[in-house]
Formats: sequence, C-alpha cells, structure tokens
Amino acid sequence: MQKQRIVLLGPPASGKGTQADLIASAYGIPHVSTGALLRSESSRRTDIGLEADSWISKGLLVPDELVIRIVTTWIEKNGSTFLFDGFPRSVSQAEYLDDFLDSLKAPLDLIIVLELADKEIPRRINDRLSCLQCGATCSGKLDAQVEGAPCPRCRKPLVRRNDDTDEAIERRLEIYRELTMPVVDYYNRTSSELVRRIDAEVGSQSVFTSISKLIS
Ligand code: AMP
Repeated sequence: MQKQRIVLLGPPASGKGTQADLIASAYGIPHVSTGALLRSESSRRTDIGLEADSWISKGLLVPDELVIRIVTTWIEKNGSTFLFDGFPRSVSQAEYLDDFLDSLKAPLDLIIVLELADKEIPRRINDRLSCLQCGATCSGKLDAQVEGAPCPRCRKPLVRRNDDTDEAIERRLEIYRELTMPVVDYYNRTSSELVRRIDAEVGSQSVFTSISKLIS
C-alpha cells in the first residue's frame, strides 16, 4: 500500500526539499516544510514569523512550542496525509508527533534518512537560491540561476536565504549533529522497521528512484 505519512530527515542541503517536491508531484502527498512555513510567516511579518526570524537568521532552531503549533494547525486543517521535510528536528518534537498521530490513530509509515558527507554541505549551500514565497530551491550552477531571477515555479524573485551564510551554516550543522541526529536514534529505537537510509550524494533523480521503491 502506498505510504501516506512520511518523515524526511537529513542534514541541511541534503536535498530534502527537492525530493519532497518530486514525491509530492508523483504521489500527491502534500509536502510540508516547516522551514518554508516559517519563512512564509516571516515574509508576511506575522507575530509567529517575526519571532521565528530572530532564531532562523542566527541558524538556531525555532522553539519547539512554536513549530509544534504550526504543525498541529497544518494537520488539523489539511488532514493526516503528509510528507514532513525538516520536522521533527528534536527528540521532543518527535515524541510530540508520535503522541499526536497516535491520538488520530494515524501513525507514521515511513522515515527516510538522507545521508550526505559533511564536506558536501557548505558547497551545496553556497550554490543555493531559494524562493521565500513557494519554498522552491535552485542550484545557481546546475540551473544557471542568479539572485533576483524569477522563481521557476511561482515567478517571485529567487534570493539567498538569510541563514545560508557561513556562520549560520556552521551553527546549523552543529545543531543537526546535537539535536537532530538523536531523532534518527529515537526512531531507530522506537520504530526501526520504518527507518530507511538513502545515500544523498548521488544525483537527485537516482535518489528519487530509490525513494520511490519505498513509497509505493
Ligand atoms: P529548513 O528550511 O528546513 O532548512 O529550515 C530553516 C530554519 O527554520 C532552520 O534552520 C530553523 O531555524 C527553522 N526550522 C525549520 N524547521 C524547524 C523545526 N522543526 N524545529 C525548529 N526550527 C525549525
């Protein structure tokens, strides 16, 4: 049976957003990026967005309570078919998600961990342009895009994210190791039958082929 509730984990720039978009269009599973939801709040200058931005721009995690509020609202509004990209990012978020989904009798059915060598990460981030409106990302080199060019999906200008700076990247990597890698350990302990590791160093189409075999 096709998987319905998927979590996609991996370090910054491991291709979570790209894979989530490919999965969403191939299988119709909504792509929920907490980073993109927070950036959209921030660009609309809502209270949540302004608070979130003060953490995001420093490369720090937004407090659990705020992210959990956004995720809960999303599920209550849109239902329990989703592909989470960038959530959960801490063990307490993972525990919250398990409890909430238990209460809906709709547990996770796949946890994908994208693996990428540390040295690849700054190289990919420095080449990345993003759309703050729709969450699309492009490679400057591979897609021949420049800052300010229209987003290929929604035509808003592409920008460099304010957390794609050298200092913020270092901090995001430390946080990934400290707070998010324990999420992989948590799932290995509690739901090892759902966890699948995928090498993310190969091209995005090969990664997608491997993921497709897990979803359908
Ligand atoms: P991303 O687009 O997934 O790289 O997320 C960008 C930034 O948004 C992160 O560096 C965090 O500051 C914040 N963020 C996104 N998702 C979460 C989350 N699940 N928990 C806390 N902060 C988050």
